[in-house]
Parts: sequence; C-alpha cells; structure tokens
Amino acid sequence: MPSYTAPFKDQQFLLHEVLKVTETGIPGYDELDRDFTGAVLEEAGKIASEVLQPLNAVGDRQGCTLENGVVRTPDGFKSAYDQLREGGWMGLDADPEYGGQGMPFLLSSAVGEMFVSANMAFNMYQGLTHGAYSAIHTHGSDEQKAMYLPNMVEGRWSGTMNLTEPHCGTDLGLIRTKAEPQDDGSYLITGSKIWISAGEHDLSENIIHLVLAKAPGGGEGTKGISLFIVPKFIVNDDGSLGDRNAVSCGGLEEKMGIHGNATCVMNYDGAKGFLVGELHKGMRAMFTMMNEARLGVGVQGLAQGSVAYQNALGFAQDRLQGRDVTGVKNPDGPADPIIVHPDVRRGLLDQKSFVEGGRAFMYWGAMLIDQAHRAEDADAEALISLLTPVIKGFLTDKGFETTVLAQQTLGGSGFTREWGIEQFVRDARITMIYEGTNGIQSLDLVGRKLAQNGGKTVMAFFDLVKTFIKENEGDADLKDGFLDPLKSASKDLQAAGMYFMQNGMKNPNNALSGSYDFMLLFGHVCLGLMWARMAKAARAALDAGSSDAAFYESKLATGRYYMARQLPATATHLARIQSGADPVMALDASGF
Ligand SMILES: Cc1cc2nc3c(=O)[nH]c(=O)nc-3n(C[C@H](O)[C@H](O)[C@H](O)COP(=O)(O)OP(=O)(O)OC[C@H]3O[C@@H](n4cnc5c(N)ncnc54)[C@H](O)[C@@H]3O)c2cc1C
Repeated sequence: MPSYTAPFKDQQFLLHEVLKVTETGIPGYDELDRDFTGAVLEEAGKIASEVLQPLNAVGDRQGCTLENGVVRTPDGFKSAYDQLREGGWMGLDADPEYGGQGMPFLLSSAVGEMFVSANMAFNMYQGLTHGAYSAIHTHGSDEQKAMYLPNMVEGRWSGTMNLTEPHCGTDLGLIRTKAEPQDDGSYLITGSKIWISAGEHDLSENIIHLVLAKAPGGGEGTKGISLFIVPKFIVNDDGSLGDRNAVSCGGLEEKMGIHGNATCVMNYDGAKGFLVGELHKGMRAMFTMMNEARLGVGVQGLAQGSVAYQNALGFAQDRLQGRDVTGVKNPDGPADPIIVHPDVRRGLLDQKSFVEGGRAFMYWGAMLIDQAHRAEDADAEALISLLTPVIKGFLTDKGFETTVLAQQTLGGSGFTREWGIEQFVRDARITMIYEGTNGIQSLDLVGRKLAQNGGKTVMAFFDLVKTFIKENEGDADLKDGFLDPLKSASKDLQAAGMYFMQNGMKNPNNALSGSYDFMLLFGHVCLGLMWARMAKAARAALDAGSSDAAFYESKLATGRYYMARQLPATATHLARIQSGADPVMALDASGF
C-alpha cells in the first residue's frame, strides 16, 4: 500500500530561503515566520498522512453510489470531512469577515498540495466549495455574501461549478440551460448539466450550485450567459434551510479515476436561482472561479506526481534486482537495490526534479496572487494571469508524466493494484482535461495572454529572467550549471514568441499549431528559473556552513540534472513551433 510523507523540509526551504516570504512586504506575510508556517504545515501534513491518505484506496475501490437521488460517499469520507471542518481547514485563506482565517493563499496552497497528494478525490469536495466561495465573494451582493459565505467557509455547506452540458464543454457559447425571470427577482433555471464534480453527496447540509444559464435578451454565444446561485435547499431569510429546490442528481458517471468524488448529471427542473453579478456578464464572474480552479488543478497534477515519486523512491531503495555494473553495492544480499542502475536513477531524477521545481513554481504563482490581491499590485496580477495557463498546463502534463514514470520504476508492481501507484496515474489523468483541456490552456496562452498589455507582461517576464542571470553571473558554479542553460532556454522562448509575432498574423494556424509546444517551452523556462533560484539559496546555505549539507547538496545535484537533462527540451519545442502550420495542416481531414 502506498504512503504519504509531507515534504516539510522542502516547504520550509521554499518559503524561507528561496521566496523569503517575511521580507516581501506583502501584507500578512510578516506573520509567516518559520515557527508559524512550521506549525501549520506540520499539523496539515499529519492530517494528510494519517486521516486522508488511508482513505485514498478506500475511495478508489468503493466509489460513490446513487440511490433514490441520494449520493453516498465512500466509508470514512464523512468523518474525515467533519474533522477538517471542525479544525477550520476549509476556511484557511477565506475572508475573516465571513469566518475565515484570512491566511495568505500561498499557505493554503501549500496545505492544499498535501491534502491532494494524500487524497485527490476527497479534496475536490472542498476545492469546489472554495471556488464557489471566491465567485460569490468577488461578484455576489452583500446580502448573498452574508447568506451563503459563512456556512461555505465553515464547510457546513459545499459548492459546485456547473458549466458543462451534453453538447458543450469547451464551447460554452452553446449553453442551452435557460433562466426565466420571475416577479420576485429570482429566476427559474431549467436544463441539464453533466460531469458536475461534487454535484450531490452526503458530506454537507446544503450544496450551493453555481450555474451558467441563458436569460432572455442576452444575445448569441457567451455574451448571453449569466451566473446563478441555485441552492439545493432554499435558504430562508433567517438563514435556516427551507424547501428542497428543483435540482437533482440524475446519474453518476463511471470513470477512469477519482472514484471517491461524485461526478454527477445535474437536472434543473425550474429550480429557483439567484443572479450573481450583472445579467449577461456571467462569464466574467465564472472566470474568477475558473482561474482559481486552474491553479488548483495545476496543484493536483503536481501533488499526484509528488506522492507517486515518493512511493517509487521507496520501492527503488528496497527492490533487489541485478548488480551495479561498477561494483557490488549490497554484497550480503542476492542483488543490489535497483536505485543503483543508471536507467532507474534517470526515471527517479526526472520525477524528483519536476516535483521540486514544480512545487517552487506553484509557490511562486500563489505568492503572485497574494501580491496582486493583498498588495493590489497590478504587475503581479498581469504576470499571474500570463502564467495561469502555464501552471495549469505544464504542471498537469508533467505531473501525469511523473506518475507514469513512477509506475515504470515499479515495473510490474506499478501496473498491478497492490502497490497503489496505478491509482495515481488514473487520478492524475483528469487534470489534463478538466478546467479547460491543456490544449485550450495553450490557446489561451498564445491567443490572449501573450498579447496582453500590448506584450508588456511577457516582456516583464523576460526581464525578470534576464535580471536574475545578470545579478548572479559572478558566481562561476551557478553560471555554468544553471545560468547559461537558463539563458539559452529563455532565448528559445523569445524566439518562439517572435515567430508567432512574425507569422501568426499571416496565418493564425502558424501560431495555433505551435501553441502546445509553446506552453511546455514556457513551463520549462519557469522551472529553469526556479531551479536557478533554488540553487542560489542552496549554495548560500552551504556557504554559511549549514548543518544539513546533505539536503542542499541534493538540491544542487537535482537542479543540475534538470538543467542538463530536461531544459534542453526547449530547443525541440522551438524547432516544432518554427516548422509552422504546414506539417500539421497538410493532410486534408479525409486523408487521416
Ligand atoms: C471527471 C470530470 C469532472 C468534471 N467536473 C466538471 C465540473 O465540476 N463542472 C463542469 O462544468 N464541468 C466539469 N467537467 C467537464 C470538463 O471541464 C470538460 O470535460 C472539459 O472542459 C472539456 O470539454 P469536453 O469534454 O466537452 O471536450 P470538447 O469541448 O468536446 O473537446 C474535445 C477535444 O477537442 C479540443 N478542442 C475543442 N475545441 C477546440 C478549439 N476551439 N481549438 C482546439 N481544440 C479544441 C479539446 O481540447 C479536446 O481535446 C468535468 C469532466 C470530467 C471528466
């Protein structure tokens, strides 16, 4: 059976030696000293390992069941949910005005990674609630906030996000769910939504559905869409639960992974709904939820890669097969542990260098969100908006790849059920698909984000990389192993951007054919930058005579591996991009 150990040392290293959180000046960060973050992360890590992780395989085996309209979650989910709720973990970064603890998003993201590593399906129930909370918090009226948020922050009520319909997933302009205005200012919502995560379950007392629907007079396409709150139970003016609304779960989806999370068909049969924000401006409101959810899904990819790697490492240290060709390492045993073999080490280092680099990238992204919101920093807002599709696309693409690499490390034991690695592969796979497929993330990056602010934001990113390189070029070790490869990768990224500028206008397919490669190229440069920053921090600790030299030496060796073996992928991505639309578009549809 797999296990999960919280990456405590790595978390503290990132927060205090790489990001140096208390020195950033971001409001609220002054409280994040080592003792404080240590106490929160240690406690959360314990819950992850001792409460959530043991339920991961249970949830996978049992799945959810639907009987007479009631969805039951797997054994143990309800008591774990209550434990988290009572501990205040669900409102960690929520607004204190509504009962939250007001902690930075960075800290709640670090906690979130651990919970997802331990049990992704379980964590989705509260993840969706958080997204719904954010949409109401940002776009809801004061009355709506007062009515819904305190119970959602507490976890007593949960939330969902209802976009997808049988005939429309990516193309939301095709939505058919209708909203008819009523005399009392409410709307009657009619339609069917599919694949709604946490749509119905037995964990919370009420479920607050956020639903996209079309009200009269909005016009065609996404312009006509509005966002509505549709509670499972109507909430009375005094806050008590009233009548059951006309919304029901019409079926549960059979699926490849995340069996512990209920994926529901939701039928709205003239259900009472309440407009959130402005009429016909629902997409804007939903984007608040979707952007946050995209970062959350990026964390899911990383978290599954992380737990898969941990278990692959444990296996590689124990499994005895073959001998080290350069000399026996385990003379008393029948064979050496497989970790001696270069090819096994390659797989493990691909995993380790992604997980640690990806964690740094995710923390940096979460810090930018805090900087944007807490310090009202428009540049940070623009930068995180640019990086959001990269975080979602790259961390889930490589996170899934990492689970497969971990599976390979275990050989046949990775394919069979007993070791539990195959569950990580199955669970991680959805992260590349929902919240906008990774293909759509890459279109968002190339089609919208690159040009945002007239290209100033992407230039600011390049400047950030350039400045870091310049400031540290005097350090010869850093220069050879880290800064030179980063410089070369960053040049590839700039050349790709230039190619799009020169050729995308002539023929948009020149840009769209290379968008996925561009997203991966961008992700590699971000991880290259993270590794260079981590290497600098590790060297500083070693120079200062740290008593934990092994940790920092391991960081440097892992970083060098990434720069030498992963970062050169940028050249391949660039070559593909520069080949343009022709290789992709040459075949007529009938020629496939
Ligand atoms: C387990 C699970 C949970 C989910 N949870 C939720 C939820 O809670 N709420 C919710 O609303 N939805 C949810 N979804 C739906 C999910 O967000 C969609 O599946 C996803 O957005 C993709 O839509 P689709 O499946 O209809 O694919 P389609 O839109 O049919 O796309 C099919 C393929 O075509 C590509 N494609 C489509 N259009 C374009 C284009 N213009 N250019 C290039 N490529 C294109 C896509 O990238 C994809 O590869 C969930 C889905 C699953 C499987």
